Amino acid sequence: MLNIITLPATSLRERSKEIDRDFLLKPETQKLMVEMIDTMYQDDGAGLAAPQIGKNIRICVIGQEADKKLTKDLILVNPVWEKISKKTNLDTEGCLSVPGVFGRVKRFSKIYVTALDRRANKIEFEAKNFFARVIQHEVDHLDGILFIDKATDICRTDNALGAGICPPNLSDSSIRL
Ligand code: ZN
Repeated sequence: MLNIITLPATSLRERSKEIDRDFLLKPETQKLMVEMIDTMYQDDGAGLAAPQIGKNIRICVIGQEADKKLTKDLILVNPVWEKISKKTNLDTEGCLSVPGVFGRVKRFSKIYVTALDRRANKIEFEAKNFFARVIQHEVDHLDGILFIDKATDICRTDNALGAGICPPNLSDSSIRL
């Protein structure tokens, strides 16, 4: 299992590098992507980006439950998204790299995603609502951006730093990405 990097690690704030086909197809990189999926499930996350396991490369993984249409866990390499609609929604997020903290983040509701899959094939698809939220959160990680940079109503489960304590319903229904 891989170690999750948490704040205040400065590597979480770096822009991660695009990877090329040769690097992607290396056995070590293929193994890393499988380990990222295992680690995501082990730590009860819905998504995980490579900087969160200490690799500043543009790979993220998303659990199958993020969208009804997914038939397996998703690996996105060099992902890029654009909004399809101006519509946004506000919902609660947490992050495996910012433990015990939750907040509400405004995200675009409908996006179009372009990436490579684990075999370096180009993939393109539309993502909506929660699925779109997870992708925006993970791509932010690849740019060194954390959800706390954008969140409102930030609360902590342990009330450290004097922030408000999360109401039980908020932290229970929250998602760690
Ligand atoms: Zn995160």
